[in-house]
Formats: sequence, C-alpha cells, structure tokens
Amino acid sequence: MPAQSLVERDARVIWHPDTQMLTEPAPISIVKGDGALLMDEAGRAYIDADASWWVNTIGHGHPLVAERMAEQARRLEHCIFACLTHEPAVQLAERLIERLPGIFSRIFYSDNGSTSVEVALKMAIQFWHNQGIPRQKLLALEGGYHGDTFGSMSVGAKSVFTAPFEPYLFEVTYLPLPQPGQPFPLDEESLQGYAAFIFEPLIQGAGGMRIYPAETLDAWLEICRRQGVLLIADEVMTGFYRTGKMFACDYLRTKPDIICLSKGLTGGTLPLGVTACTEKIFEAFLSNDKRKTFFHGHSYTANPIACTAALTSLDILLTDAYQQQIQHIVAQHQHFLQKLKDYPCFQHPRQLGTIAAFEVQGDANYTSPLRDTLYLFYLHRGVLMRPLGNTVYVMPPYCITDEQLQQIYDATYALGDWLLHKT
Ligand code: PMP
Repeated sequence: MPAQSLVERDARVIWHPDTQMLTEPAPISIVKGDGALLMDEAGRAYIDADASWWVNTIGHGHPLVAERMAEQARRLEHCIFACLTHEPAVQLAERLIERLPGIFSRIFYSDNGSTSVEVALKMAIQFWHNQGIPRQKLLALEGGYHGDTFGSMSVGAKSVFTAPFEPYLFEVTYLPLPQPGQPFPLDEESLQGYAAFIFEPLIQGAGGMRIYPAETLDAWLEICRRQGVLLIADEVMTGFYRTGKMFACDYLRTKPDIICLSKGLTGGTLPLGVTACTEKIFEAFLSNDKRKTFFHGHSYTANPIACTAALTSLDILLTDAYQQQIQHIVAQHQHFLQKLKDYPCFQHPRQLGTIAAFEVQGDANYTSPLRDTLYLFYLHRGVLMRPLGNTVYVMPPYCITDEQLQQIYDATYALGDWLLHKT
C-alpha cells in the first residue's frame, strides 16, 4: 500500500477549527516556518499575511526564542501554579506591570484569549459579589468578538458563530460602536447597576477590522468610571504594537481596570493568556472567608516555557530593529491604502498601526462564496490570508521584508484589476 500523505492522514483523524469539513479545501501541510514565511511539503512558500490568526509578531522559527524555550524546557517544563511559583512567571508579571497602560498590580495567567476574557468577566462580577454590592449587569460594544467560550460568546456579537448557543448565553447591554462626537447612549444614572464594560479598544478585529475613534471611547470610559463601572480592555488582538503603540489603551486617557492579553504575548510561539488587574480589584478577594477566593485555575496556568517565550518576545520587540520595523510597516501600509483608492471595487481603506484593511465590493457575509474566492486568489499568489467575509486585512509578522510586503500589495492590485475586468 502506498504511504499516505499527511493531508490524507489528516482527513481521517482531524477536525479543524472554524472549518466546514465537508466543503472546504484540504489543509496545506506546513513543514517549516521562517520569518514571515510558512513552507509546505512541496517547498512552496506562503507569506503569513494574517500572522497565523494574529498571533505572530516576531516571525516564525525565531532562533533566540527556540534556544531560550529549549533551555527552559530542560530546567523546568511545567509545574502546578496554585501552590508553587517560578522565575519566568514572576519576571513576566514584573515586566508587564511596568509597561501596561494603567496602574496594574496583579497578573493572573491562563492559556488563551478566550480564557483571559472569562477570567476578566469572572473577576469583575465577583469583585462586586464579594462586597455584597448588587451590580450584575454587563456592558459591551455591538459587533465585538471576545472568544469562543460561553462567557466570551455572551459579551460578543451574535452571529453564525453563536446561533446554536444563544439560549445558553447570558444577557448583556450593547452600546453602538462609538462614532466621532457621539454622546454616551445611556442615561448615566442607569450605569450604577453595571459591574463592568468590556470592549476591544480602538478596533474590533473579528467583527470586521472596524476602527473607531479613541476620543469618543475615552469620553464614554470616563462616564463609566465616574459611575464605578469596571473597565475591561480586551487587548488580545491589539496588544504588542499591532496598533503602532505597545497597547491600544496607550492612546486613551482613561485607563482600564482590567486588561486581557494573549496572541502576541508570546510573539506567536506558545499559548498563554494574561488578565491584569488593579490593586483595588485584587483587594476585594482578600479575606479570612474562603468563599471570597477567586476559584479559577487552568492546569497549564503560567507554563514556564510559554512565559519564557513571552519574556524573549518582549526583548525582541523592544530592540531598535523591531521598533523601526513596526514604524516602517505603518508607513508602507499608508502608501498601499492610498493606492487602493484608485480601485472602485475596494471600499473603506483604513489603517490602525500595522493593520491595513478594506472591503471588496460584494457579499459581506462571513460564509459568502466571495470570501472563499478572495482566500484562493491570494493563496495562488503565495499569500496566506483569511478574509472576514468581504473584509481583507494585512496584519503581518513585524519581521516581514519589503519584498514580501510588496508581494501582498501586488496581489491586492492584481485582485483589483481582475475584479474590474470581471464585471
Ligand atoms: N479577544 C479578541 C479581541 C480576539 O481577537 C480573540 C481571537 N481572535 C479572542 C479574544 C479569543 O482568543 P483565542 O482565540 O486565543 O481564544
């Protein structure tokens, strides 16, 4: 019997995420990553234009990260974090607290973006519960996305992703996406029943790379703060220079009480989640009454190898070379988006830091055939990107070369020409 290919073996045993397994094309088997490139079995290279679901900042196969992770794996690969501690977890917490936008004093670890959000919601709800204060309602922004677990689905937009689960999701009050100069849409007094407000600062990612003004968000946050509502910034996508600054909240005057991090936290190498909070929140859990404990913990909390990857990624991101490269991508994107204005089939070209996005005229539905056409168009030109419906975005690892970035831009111009001649 001839040996089966990896794709054939995959087809027998794997269930891929967010994938209609009956109709979607077979996966590409990747054997190696190098910088902004992913290489398949046949030696074809793909530019990772969406940074592997927005996680990769420092590039694939970074030798320094590989070296430090291997060293850490030999020393201590993992241990329970409930009653033990270790250097990588403490050092990472110290370094994050120094740089986080706000006066944070405690880091709670978990293992992905959704869990960092679950932790944030539970922390905020129990903060009030522990004090016997009846604040139970939650505020969120329309069109948001915070993860695939039940709590994070509850505070996100209702969509094809959440439809089967809607009877199981808890109630949330949604505010519209802030527009320039828009007054706060609720009566300020009514905020006193709210425990927390969760938002993706400045840009909604999975909701379609929707950018909104920092000024209006700031004004709304100020009102919420005045009424005691805890502010939860979900920086799972925006953290670690995606928006040009280290955190999106660096653009805001009113800083959050809780912040969620994951994705770029480890540079894109290993899963790790962080929920940071202020001392005020932490103190509400300190008690001789054990029922006030924060009873939440994942088996792989604060995995030492993941923490080491995060520490190394921070070192790399803070080098002059990476800082310059981030600003260089920002500038390149500006030229690219300017050029897109020549194409009538491209709409709303927009940018926030290293994220460039636009819509292709046509069906905006996430499950539309247009989305699949766009995916394949780029793939055939050596660019891996997963449009959100008709929203195309470029969000590369920061180590991407000028030639690779140009290849993505050229594929987009070719798409514009092709769509023009097709109609
Ligand atoms: N929050 C935001 C803003 C996200 O973009 C995502 C993932 N796209 C999540 C939470 C969930 O993260 P994860 O996929 O790691 O669970």
